[in-house]
Amino acid sequence: MLSAAARREQDILALWDQAAGRARHQRDDALLNAAGAVPTDTIGAGNAALLALRTKLFGASWRLRAACPACHGDCEFTADSAALADGLAPQADAVPPRIAIGGQELTLRLPVLSDLANLAAAPDSLAAAQSLLARCLGDMPSTALDQDTRDRIEAELERCDPGAVIAFALDCPDCSHSWQAVIDIAPALWAEIQAAAERSLLEVDALAREYGWSEAEVLALPQARRAAYLQLAGVS
Ligand SMILES: [Zn+2]
Repeated sequence: MLSAAARREQDILALWDQAAGRARHQRDDALLNAAGAVPTDTIGAGNAALLALRTKLFGASWRLRAACPACHGDCEFTADSAALADGLAPQADAVPPRIAIGGQELTLRLPVLSDLANLAAAPDSLAAAQSLLARCLGDMPSTALDQDTRDRIEAELERCDPGAVIAFALDCPDCSHSWQAVIDIAPALWAEIQAAAERSLLEVDALAREYGWSEAEVLALPQARRAAYLQLAGVS
């Protein structure tokens, strides 16, 4: 029987098999699918599912980095992916987003995961943002809206799905600049999966060369014993 750590490693490698070398939106889909998210979930619910998957694979402590917008220095910080996911749970009594435009009260539609999937074909980020706005407005033409109205719509959508944008208040250790660093959950999780999968493959490669073991044999070794053999083989 596989240990919990070995099972997690198998899950990470299976995800890597599905998503490595694919376009970003296909990778995001593979991760959301593995996280149990469905196309009708809000972006916040999708993020909560990704964070729960992240906690299952790597534990709650999450080391992240963001570039300081003032001095471009690298800022490392640690988040708790389990606590973060809890804070994003959809509210049962959430009211639909509404906004007044030209004296008329309009009900907006919250964007969901399938909206994002449809944006993958947009030629650039501006076109994608406009297309998303049009989806949230329904029949109302988005081209007729001024910037102030667009900003108000964006703020209202954020208020109704606060988990859609995950930001951290950071202070730069180099220049003391304070800012809100937005972290895109799917690419951040993918970077972690990719690094872990590559580490596993390097270990399999090293031990297969040294001892002639198969991939399955190396992956089945208990963590401590694998580490010991890697040390004996002069790899770590
Ligand atoms: Zn800085």
